[in-house]
Amino acid sequence: MHSQIMRSAPLGIEEVVVLSGKPSGWIEVICGSMFSGKTEELIRRLRRAQIAKQKVAIFKPKIDVRYSEDHIVSHNQQKIPSIAVKHAEDILKKVGDARVLGIDEAQFFDSSLVDVCRKLANAGRRVIVAGLDKDYRGEPFEPIPQMLCEAEYITKTLAICMQCGNPASYTQRILPSSERVLLGATDVYEARCRNCFEPPK
Ligand code: ZN
Repeated sequence: MHSQIMRSAPLGIEEVVVLSGKPSGWIEVICGSMFSGKTEELIRRLRRAQIAKQKVAIFKPKIDVRYSEDHIVSHNQQKIPSIAVKHAEDILKKVGDARVLGIDEAQFFDSSLVDVCRKLANAGRRVIVAGLDKDYRGEPFEPIPQMLCEAEYITKTLAICMQCGNPASYTQRILPSSERVLLGATDVYEARCRNCFEPPK
């Protein structure tokens, strides 16, 4: 295959020009606070691939069964069938011949996710990873920082501060708890801007 131009991407961000050799895989990361539309954006990209008749597989960590066991669901109730896996390595076993892979709530996987995504991209797959980049303390939420380092394309989604309306990149926990993982939605969290975010003591 020579001089092929692929335009398959969201927001016009990818325009991969393959000058020679085989087409390459790549990694896209969609990250931001809660309520910033990460899952919606992931679903949008996966749907577009499906419309183009590309085989798609979607994974999420088994920990996250807030809304559905076998779908990923955005807060606006868009959904798409998904496979829940306990460990990142399980993705390699279940990926089959899918060309496009979506991974939602990626912050709940351990650091082996980076290696799994690298293997998949090296094998020619398009890997789209969505997750929180910061935890409720405003600290980096591994393995998302490492995924940003590995990715070809990065999209940071912003929410709107629920206190003042400024662009929001922090997730404020509004219930007292020091568990790093506490599942919930607007009952537990608010999107906040940097002025309104109050790190827990
Ligand atoms: Zn604010």
